[in-house]
Amino acid sequence: MTTDTATRVIKNATCTVCGCLCDDIELTVTGERITKAKNACELGRAWFLDHQPDGSRPEAVIDGVPATVERALDEAARLLAAARYPVVYGLSDTTTEAQRVAVEVADLLGACLDTTTSACHGPSGMPLSSVGAATCTLGEVKNRADLVIFWGGNPAESHPRHFTKFSVTAKGMFVPRGREDRYVVVVNEQRTPSAGAADLFLQVRPRKDFELLWALRALVKGVAIDPQIEAETGVSLETLTALVDRMKRARYGIFLFDMGPCTTWESHHDAAAILSLARDLNAHTRFVAMPMGGRGNVSGADNVVSWSTGYPFGVNLGRGYPRFNPGEFTAVDLLTRGEADAALIISADPAVNFPQAAIEHLKRIPTVVLDSRPSATAPSPRVAFTTAVYGINVPGTVYRMDDIPIRIRPALPSRYRSDEDILRAIAERIRARQAETVRA
Ligand code: SF4
Repeated sequence: MTTDTATRVIKNATCTVCGCLCDDIELTVTGERITKAKNACELGRAWFLDHQPDGSRPEAVIDGVPATVERALDEAARLLAAARYPVVYGLSDTTTEAQRVAVEVADLLGACLDTTTSACHGPSGMPLSSVGAATCTLGEVKNRADLVIFWGGNPAESHPRHFTKFSVTAKGMFVPRGREDRYVVVVNEQRTPSAGAADLFLQVRPRKDFELLWALRALVKGVAIDPQIEAETGVSLETLTALVDRMKRARYGIFLFDMGPCTTWESHHDAAAILSLARDLNAHTRFVAMPMGGRGNVSGADNVVSWSTGYPFGVNLGRGYPRFNPGEFTAVDLLTRGEADAALIISADPAVNFPQAAIEHLKRIPTVVLDSRPSATAPSPRVAFTTAVYGINVPGTVYRMDDIPIRIRPALPSRYRSDEDILRAIAERIRARQAETVRA
């Protein structure tokens, strides 16, 4: 970091907007404002330049009235410790250090622990335990991949620097000419801007990903396929046969799959089919698969919850050991059925994408919210904390979409505490209450 009195430059800052977690951003800070974010894409620039210091929000609020942090911590611990079936939800937009403490709080409470993964790319993680995954790092994609297949999603807009840093135009050790050394395929139900970057675009009929993937698996194994596959999937047998031939001839192929095939619970079969196809192809060449991770530190949440409990999300800790059952222990289901009797929401905004029944229930039960930004969930909680922004005000660790941990460095100070500090203080108070109950 170089500093002068008015302007300082923070090199190698990390953008946490998408799963690429670009860590080559050069921030210029003038006074207390970020004025430039060199190397960031449009999304990243907007994130950095929009996060200017705003100390106007109270640090803590109880029932809509500003309160001291100490009082709010006491009240949050009291509400959560008194609950019989609480849920801890969110975690994806904060540091790994805070995520670890959130798991600790859930464990102390015997709560259901769920992350935004369950409402996003959850199904893509479910087959990891049944099928397994042949996978790699983004460094390997950059240096080796000569056949890149984007399945679903629209990475050109959701992960704007992915093409140039890792997968399409990037020059690597074994693909020194970058784009010229790679063959790029995009598979999607609709033609998106990503299709423009592809050598081959396959438009699959809506909800026919599984059939298309299974046909590819059959062809890889030398099983004859009925030409009627075109009427079923929208892709001709001739095209599929040529693609399979190309897959087998590739030196290093990769499937990068996104929420396209993973937006419904049934779609974990689509993810399982992609992982199985990549596994099958390893009988012929090196082939890997990787989900296109969502925003921020969602991969960190998956990692922390997995290494702590053995499962990635939707975990119940009420019996003193973890139980995994998406649909039963996932936040959206617990709230929609009206089962949870308290909620701790960390850096997430369920009011934006949860069904109305879940949102209504959330308004009826005591809710504790930690968030750096005003959220749609925040107006209704019993206790709300304004926290500092990770990556801008708070240092720590985040996980890239390929599960590589990256350190983030803050650019600006904040008058607010970090999620980790607030969660630690809540955990201490819950522990003290539980000790008192045992003594009594
Ligand atoms: Fe940020 Fe993603 Fe853009 Fe990189 S590609 S600068 S991580 S939004």
